[in-house]
Amino acid sequence: MNPPIYDFAAYDFWLKPYGMLSVAGMIRGKADFALFDYIDRLNPFMATQKQLESDQWGRGMFYFEKISNPDCLKDIPRYFRRFGLPRTELANFLKNEKSFVFVLIQTTMTYWYPGVYEVIEDIRSFSPEAKIILGGNYVTLSRSHAEKSGADLLIHGTNLEPLWKFLSITPDQSQPALWEVYKDLKTGVLKLTDGCPFNCTYCSVPKVYGKFKPRNLEHAFDELKLLYDLSAENVAFYDDALLFEPEKVIIPFLKKVVNSGIKINFHTPNALNARFITNDLAKLMVQAGFKTFYLGFESASTKWQKQTGSKVFSQELAHAVERLFDAGAEAKNITAYQILGHPQGDMQELEESMHFVHSLGIRGMLADFSPIPGTPDGESCRRWVNLDEPLMHNKTAFPIIMLGFNESNRLKDLQRQLNRTIGN
Ligand code: SF4
Repeated sequence: MNPPIYDFAAYDFWLKPYGMLSVAGMIRGKADFALFDYIDRLNPFMATQKQLESDQWGRGMFYFEKISNPDCLKDIPRYFRRFGLPRTELANFLKNEKSFVFVLIQTTMTYWYPGVYEVIEDIRSFSPEAKIILGGNYVTLSRSHAEKSGADLLIHGTNLEPLWKFLSITPDQSQPALWEVYKDLKTGVLKLTDGCPFNCTYCSVPKVYGKFKPRNLEHAFDELKLLYDLSAENVAFYDDALLFEPEKVIIPFLKKVVNSGIKINFHTPNALNARFITNDLAKLMVQAGFKTFYLGFESASTKWQKQTGSKVFSQELAHAVERLFDAGAEAKNITAYQILGHPQGDMQELEESMHFVHSLGIRGMLADFSPIPGTPDGESCRRWVNLDEPLMHNKTAFPIIMLGFNESNRLKDLQRQLNRTIGN
């Protein structure tokens, strides 16, 4: 089950429960599966609503219902909402399903746990004997909080041994993710690597996924082929360091894609590191079908860049953008992320950074800062918020707490104005 989202804002930016589907893939043929994905926009309930239609690349809005703000976020002057299929849809779904023994639930953002708790409550009332298993970021990053969820098993990080023991099934790790469990699929996800060689002070990846490690490329190609055979049109890479060690990973993979004749639109929502975009790689990416390029930038201040991990410098971003343009990428499809509401915002020179990105002729996107426990920058926020309550990691709330509502809005408006001259 992929739970509904409780948040101020949510948008389908190629969101799929890839971790859970990968786990299910490993026991393909050894169990019967049914999927209930509350945020699947191709579910008939959402697919028939005009305002939820997908954009050119398969992104779009979710159905939502307004609800009251949780107590700890009551001072945030924005509507709190529940995104995804209505709660009553679960009962309709279960009417047509056989009884089940295990329920696997994907968790994503720590502060989305109310959706997870809703699912647990409903499963307990429909099928009290079913064993509930949680895995993902909430369980890994807010371990002691997740222990209160009432689940029967928590899978922390990426070690799946406790899961196989609990299920008494031997996995086949060569199997692709269980994408065929969707009745209708237009968007898929791939990962060629795990972890990241950098250690940015604001990021949870080193904690959750550890050191950088390439995956088996044959396996990744099998996953792509399955997605292609199922008619997926857009595939998002969920890698955190997709372009690292390019000779071993992205270059051979994309050459294989080009030679195979597979035509699919690739996207990079998790951000590419501009440092690794050479002329040849930019050309190969465009040739293989990359359509949108999200670049992790965060700030043009050299001091801030060095203090937070030196993952990329301003001139490297400028060179990467030139190379992408030369390769044929469109300005409106190249976006640089910058953090809004970072605790060292005084050093970040955000407004100047936004103008710098704009001067390169590409779009900027403000990525709201989330104080993630266990990261140096997240931990430094304990003086402003109670990190033991995952709702306080909410990324809409934190910039408002740090900067104030008006300043946060002013910067978002400025970003919109700058982007208007780049195109939609
Ligand atoms: S480079 Fe990106 S994924 Fe890696 S630690 Fe930094 S922010 Fe995280």
